[in-house]
Amino acid sequence: MDCLFCRIIESEIPSKRVFEDETAVAFLDINPWQCGHTLVIPRRHVADALSDPTALTEIAPALRQVGTLLQDKLGASGFNLLSNVGADSGQEVFHLHVHVIPRYADNPGIAHMRGEITDDLETIHRRITG
Ligand code: 5GP
Ligand code: ZN
Repeated sequence: MDCLFCRIIESEIPSKRVFEDETAVAFLDINPWQCGHTLVIPRRHVADALSDPTALTEIAPALRQVGTLLQDKLGASGFNLLSNVGADSGQEVFHLHVHVIPRYADNPGIAHMRGEITDDLETIHRRITG
C-alpha cells in the first residue's frame, strides 16, 4: 500500500510537524485554509474517521493539544474540526485526518472557513514551534 500520510509519518516525505505523541502526528496542511491549518492523523493506517471504531477517539488527546498550541502561539480564538469521509465528501487522502482549522476574530463564521493566507508555511511553522 502506498499511502502519502503513512510516508509522512515515516518521514519519507517532509512535513512541517507541530505536534506528535504515541498515537498521532500533526503537521501543517500544505494548502491551508487559514493560518495554522493543521492535519492530525493516527500513526496507524486507518482509511477514514468512520471505518474504525476507535481511531478518532485515539487521536482526540492530540486534537486538544494542537488546539491549545494554536491558541497559544497564533492567537486562534476558535476552530473548525473537519474530517472528510469518502470521495464524495471531498476526501482525497485515504488515511484518516482531522483538519484543525484555526479561526480568528477578524474573519469569523463558517462561511469564511476558507480564508486568505498571507504568511508562508515556513513562517507559520516557526511561529508555532519556535
Ligand atoms: P482531504 O480532502 O482528503 O480531507 O484533505 C487532504 C488534505 O491534505 C488537503 O487539505 C491537502 O492540502 C493536504 N495535503 C495533500 N498532500 C499533502 C502533502 O504532501 N503534505 C501536506 N502537508 N498536506 C497535504
Ligand atoms: Zn496511511
